[in-house]
Amino acid sequence: MIIFGTKGYLYQLAILTLVCGHCGNPSAHTLRKRVTKFTLFFVPLFPISTKYATQCTFCGAEQKVTKEQAEQLQTQSAAGGGYGGQQQYGQPQQPYQS
Ligand SMILES: [Zn+2]
Repeated sequence: MIIFGTKGYLYQLAILTLVCGHCGNPSAHTLRKRVTKFTLFFVPLFPISTKYATQCTFCGAEQKVTKEQAEQLQTQSAAGGGYGGQQQYGQPQQPYQS
């Protein structure tokens, strides 16, 4: 008999000051990552889905964000700023011509 299922994990990645789209207050928001893992015999093996969301600590409204947005928000909070403008893109590669 094989027992399998899923298990959810919640990680708090950062706390950011954002203007809430729900209550309109510039308040602290938690940036969270929710990972669902496939389990076999209650042992988590690998993640099935990863979702990101911010939650307003003032009114509790949750807003889903993409992985890219979450990473950007995390970078902003790590830099201590919050005004963005620090996006980095890879150097364009010169095509080789022979
Ligand atoms: Zn709010």
